[in-house]
Amino acid sequence: MMNKSALRILVLDDEPFMLKLLGRMLGNLGFSSVSTCDNGVAALDLVDRPDVCPELILLDINMPQMDGIEFVRLLGEHHYAGALLLVSGEDERVLQSVEKLVHAHQLTVLGYLVKPVTPALLAALIDKWVPATTAVSGAPVQSFSARDLGAGIANGELINYYQPKVTVATGEVVGVEALVRWRHPRNGMVFPDQFIGFAEKNGLIDELTKTVLASALAQARIWREAGYRLRVAVNLSMDNLVQLNFLEYVAEITTMSGVAPKDMVLEVTESRLMHDQRVPLEILARLRLKRFRLAIDDFGTGNSSLAQLGNIPFEELKIDHSFVHGAWANDTRRAMFEASLGLAKKLKMESVAEGVEDRKDWDFVRQQGCDMVQGYFVARPMPAEDLPAWMADWEARRAELVCA
Ligand code: C2E
Ligand code: CA
Ligand code: CA
Repeated sequence: MMNKSALRILVLDDEPFMLKLLGRMLGNLGFSSVSTCDNGVAALDLVDRPDVCPELILLDINMPQMDGIEFVRLLGEHHYAGALLLVSGEDERVLQSVEKLVHAHQLTVLGYLVKPVTPALLAALIDKWVPATTAVSGAPVQSFSARDLGAGIANGELINYYQPKVTVATGEVVGVEALVRWRHPRNGMVFPDQFIGFAEKNGLIDELTKTVLASALAQARIWREAGYRLRVAVNLSMDNLVQLNFLEYVAEITTMSGVAPKDMVLEVTESRLMHDQRVPLEILARLRLKRFRLAIDDFGTGNSSLAQLGNIPFEELKIDHSFVHGAWANDTRRAMFEASLGLAKKLKMESVAEGVEDRKDWDFVRQQGCDMVQGYFVARPMPAEDLPAWMADWEARRAELVCA
């Protein structure tokens, strides 16, 4: 059962009357941690603070300054992990299309309410829902300070999981992507969506990336010595690309570890609009000159991914999972998938479909002629030591998947 009094709810609406009304309705339904905001900027401030970040936001779509649609996009960029309930005076069709947009940003949406809102409808929508944090771990929502995360990094509490990438044509395992987890001494396993944005905002992302990269290189070396030929991918944050000395660090530690840059993939997402792109562009271009492989991540979700492609010699284009899973049955996703794949081919980049979750997704991307696949259908991210056993299993599965 959900603990109604502990659940942090935020009501965002420009009308003071609606704030009062919804606040009172929620109170009557037993939700006592309710806060209100009359503009998107103030709401995003709350979202950025793990100690007060709401788990549910009741969002008014029509607001004079930042409207609900812009707010939804920013929520995605701020890695909001909670749920949304859309509220509007508009007709249902508008709400339905906003709801689709929210899904495209991979946010959880409980549904929509057309004003005037009634307590019964509100209760029905919230009651169906199990907050993700409770559903996944049964633990209360984690909250930590910058000092906790800094100490966690220093104490070696960050560990890399690895998710395989395989070719679609033959099922060959070409590499793995390092995905960081925080093995928190009290909160258990904390996932990156909960702390990467926080690390970026608190000046900890360089330390974090260095730790992830160092472990990934050490692991790459171990695998190579054991006879596995695997490329290892690491995620870079745009915030890592603002100082030229980061470039030197990456080059030096790679050389020291004895791994060839061409066996390392650096994945970059443009999560936010950069004011000045010159330094990031220079760093990426120079990494490329040093023969690192560059991948553009989450393609199709960013702000100006297209513009970036012309400027940076990316070799891999990773199609975001929101355009992959279920694309065989959804025209919009399929169109996005086909357009992204077409672009990758035109620009002679290797394409990777992320989020292949089942056989239907696999068959779809295979038909489409995508080069590589990464997704739960092939394997979930796993600790390094589990990889050999998975490889053996995969050998047995792959023949059937690539024939026909
Ligand atoms: P990403 O780079 O797009 O990584 C892929 C995410 O999709 C991973 O989530 C992975 O577990 C998940 N995933 C894999 N297969 C499937 C699938 O079939 N279906 C679905 N729905 N999801 C799938 P994870 O590990 O929670 O990481 C989330 C994000 O956190 C990553 O997204 C990446 O942006 C960021 N991240 C992870 N590690 C690092 C890091 O070391 N540095 C930085 N800067 N960001 C990181
Ligand atoms: Ca990635
Ligand atoms: Ca991605």
